[in-house]
Amino acid sequence: MLPILLVLLILSTLLWLPWQTQRMESSERQEQLIADTLWVEQAIRFQLGRDEENLRLIANEITAGTLSANRLRERLTALIKNNREFVRVAQLDASGKAVLSTDDEPVTLERLSPPSRNAAEHARQSKSPQYSMPAPPSGQRGPMLLDYHVPLLMGDSYAGSLVATFSVSSILNEMVPWWFAQDNEIAITDHDDAVIEKRTAGGPGRGVYTHQRMLDLPGATLTLRTNSVKGAPKLLPSLLVASVIALSLGLLWSLWALWRDINRRLAAEGALRRQVAFRTAMENSLMTGLRARDLEGRITYVNPAFCEMVGIPAEDLIGKRPPMAYWAPEAMNEYQQRFTQVLAGTVTPQYETVFQRANGERFPVLIFESPLVDDSGRQTGWMGSILDISDRKKAEDLSRRQQEQLQASARLATMGELASTLAHELNQPLAAISSYTTGALNMIVNRGGGIDLDMLKPALEKAGAQAQRAGQIIRSVHTFVKRREPRREPVTVQDWIDSVIPLVELQARQFFVATHIQLEPGLPEVLADRVMLEQVLLNLTRNAIEAMQHVAPERRILRIVAELDSEASTQQNVAISVIDRGHGIPEDVAQRLFSPFFSTKAEGMGMGLNICRTAVEFHGGTMVHMDNPGGGTIFRFTLPILAENVADSATTGESQSESG
Ligand code: ADP
Repeated sequence: MLPILLVLLILSTLLWLPWQTQRMESSERQEQLIADTLWVEQAIRFQLGRDEENLRLIANEITAGTLSANRLRERLTALIKNNREFVRVAQLDASGKAVLSTDDEPVTLERLSPPSRNAAEHARQSKSPQYSMPAPPSGQRGPMLLDYHVPLLMGDSYAGSLVATFSVSSILNEMVPWWFAQDNEIAITDHDDAVIEKRTAGGPGRGVYTHQRMLDLPGATLTLRTNSVKGAPKLLPSLLVASVIALSLGLLWSLWALWRDINRRLAAEGALRRQVAFRTAMENSLMTGLRARDLEGRITYVNPAFCEMVGIPAEDLIGKRPPMAYWAPEAMNEYQQRFTQVLAGTVTPQYETVFQRANGERFPVLIFESPLVDDSGRQTGWMGSILDISDRKKAEDLSRRQQEQLQASARLATMGELASTLAHELNQPLAAISSYTTGALNMIVNRGGGIDLDMLKPALEKAGAQAQRAGQIIRSVHTFVKRREPRREPVTVQDWIDSVIPLVELQARQFFVATHIQLEPGLPEVLADRVMLEQVLLNLTRNAIEAMQHVAPERRILRIVAELDSEASTQQNVAISVIDRGHGIPEDVAQRLFSPFFSTKAEGMGMGLNICRTAVEFHGGTMVHMDNPGGGTIFRFTLPILAENVADSATTGESQSESG
């Protein structure tokens, strides 16, 4: 409001000033006119006074009788010659008859105008000089004349008079200075304001500046009126006014524009402030650390989460160049290498590394880098978001350990299930060993000294082989059950399947299931943890055998097929299928197949398939199941082959071998 008030004040001052100037000028002119009019009045009075004086002197001389008629005529002629306001001067006797006149026409009382006769009468009675009201000569329309009657007194008796006739216009012409007449209309009016005579040398008066003065002459009351030919002063030249108005309008417009601009700026500032507050709140609430660096690697910004993560206040980080306070000394080389990359203008978009907290504690972090770009599209640095993944690592570790434990337990459970079969299986070699050794003993006892070594040797050899077999069974059980860290190594498919077959067959035999193994020759190696894969195969075959428990004995065939995966186009895989001809999997069971603890069996733990899938995925493969067209189910899983084997495997033939 203040600027608007100021502008209004300036505007009103601008408009008031010319008006005030005009008023001042106007009153100045008026005062000037009054002063001039006064001056003119004084001049007229002064001149008339001198004329009256002259006439009185002459009158005195006449009454004193010191003037001859000729002398009088000369005096009077000289008087009217020198004072041009006089028209003539005449002498009348007491009866009003002409005695003498300065012009040729004899002047008598009767021939005077009526007002003049009144004045003559008045002068005679009052015995003092009198003026008459101006009037034209009697019987004429001619110029207005003013008569001055000076009574001639012999002692106390009236002896005639001197009559001086003034022309009113001559009074105006002779007694008013020209410069005044040039600027004003001067008029003489009677007591009814009727104009008797006027002088308009400079043109008619405008009626703006006027003044009047009474000319109190004895016997005649006249008014001197002046009326300036000047009009009221013009307000101001219109150009000036127009420019003042234009300037004011311009000023108002620019004020308005300024006001609008300020409002816009305020709105923008408000929006910006809200944005900044919003962003700050967002940055402060983030759990992720943020760190911005310029192109020289100097830190330009860190958020509170980052400071908390590394335990260093922001002011100790901002503006710092590497080496940073949160770099762990042992990983210095790695950091330096990355920093060289930053200077070269490239970064690894995502990487894991280790940072050091202020208390020396190390913690793993996952870093995502992206370029910082300014509004002109120029890159000004790098923005990194840093995730403290120590919790995640711990969780992963825990889950891995639990998984291992679970697998170990599952293996123990499998072994528990196999225990009776195992006992039975071990019984055979042990029984064989027993009979071989009994046979050998009998031979020694019966034959006495003559032992047939040729007969004894094979028996002992067979006993040894059986003992070895029993030992192998025990060992395979031991390696299978032992808890250990997963370890991946190159494994040939053949080796791995061969090593698990004895255990598979143990189960198969129990349920009278025939086993067919079908391996594509020359299968490449896979990078795998052997025991995990054995467990997978063992679980799948056990499920398959169990599914065939109640089908006709001739249908109880378990097939294990290993081949190169022909479907996968990008990656070469080995695919292993476990095919049974059991009861199959209904839709509702299929949906929950891999859920932990889901089982349709009375003693089932429901972990088998879940463990299998986790193990296959750990190796980078996938596991699916489908219906067997001939009845039953196919479980098929893939394992990626070792990269260096890809070329070799391409040349592998299609021939198949069967074992069982
Ligand atoms: P468990 O064998 O302890 O029940 P699994 O996870 O190995 O646990 O199997 C879950 C369920 O999947 C089984 O209970 C069974 O119903 C079904 N299943 C698994 N394999 C087969 C198969 N080859 N044929 C039919 N059903 C199967």
